[in-house]
Amino acid sequence: MPRPDVAKLYADHLERLPHPDGFDIRFLEYSRFGKPDDVRQRVNTRATHIGEALVNVAETAGYSFHHPNDPKPADTPGPKSTMLRCLSCGHELTPLPVNDQLESGITQHALATLLRTINPECPHDQT
Ligand SMILES: [Zn+2]
Repeated sequence: MPRPDVAKLYADHLERLPHPDGFDIRFLEYSRFGKPDDVRQRVNTRATHIGEALVNVAETAGYSFHHPNDPKPADTPGPKSTMLRCLSCGHELTPLPVNDQLESGITQHALATLLRTINPECPHDQT
């Protein structure tokens, strides 16, 4: 599903798209000004579909949309973890629980146990 807030942004601006060079591209058929309710509703529906399609084209091509106010992974409720990876080969060594500040703590005993279980030879076993 295309990101709905981006699709709505496109739909709301479809009547007058501001080009980064400072001029507007106008699609007057998407103007809602002075239109009867039934026409305005049809225009809104069509503009929404176009906005969704534009977002879908970008997302299908691998692009993603992010806004500075989007919740960060650390802001989401529930337990969090990160993955300890080998810096040389990127192999995932072990998950580590983290707190809301994305800090992880481990007891000395657990650290010693963990270090005994991780193969120090790189590249690591990929199984
Ligand atoms: Zn490695």
